[in-house]
Amino acid sequence: MELKEEVLNALNKQLNVELKSEYLYLSMAAYLELQSLKGMVSWMKLQAEEEKSHAMLIYQHIIDRDGKVSLLSIDAPQNTWESPLDVFESAHRHEIAVTKSIHDLHDLTVSKKDHAAQVMLQWFITEQVEEEASTKEVADNLKRIGSDFGYLVNYDTHLNNRKDEQASQDKEGK
Ligand code: MG
Repeated sequence: MELKEEVLNALNKQLNVELKSEYLYLSMAAYLELQSLKGMVSWMKLQAEEEKSHAMLIYQHIIDRDGKVSLLSIDAPQNTWESPLDVFESAHRHEIAVTKSIHDLHDLTVSKKDHAAQVMLQWFITEQVEEEASTKEVADNLKRIGSDFGYLVNYDTHLNNRKDEQASQDKEGK
């Protein structure tokens, strides 16, 4: 079924939201580099890569439906925060906003009876539950750690390990 113009425009906007998210998380990674928190840097870089892959899922859906991908502009993201806790609380707030935009897009595809787009968006709805939970988990842990530098360094190492585990799981899975 051909993409209706309103759905196409909304998909292109969501593609832009995902690329903006990539930009924001890369900016957060760059800020964390200045704090030498390498575990958090790698967590954020991985997050940025994931956002690019989200954008590409929407890109491919538009192409497969014979639609035109239109790349919209991206403003410079925020580039400084008060603390690592501030970074992860901002990331959590950002994911809550992204969830809303996914839900609004899904509502539109329901009203326009676009079943194929609804199926594609199911994946995003599930993913957003995970995105909100993972950013909240890190923010909650950073809140508990507070200003204890020793715990912060330990936790940073833990975040780095978690990334490695994920990478090796992916390797075994393939
Ligand atoms: Mg995303």
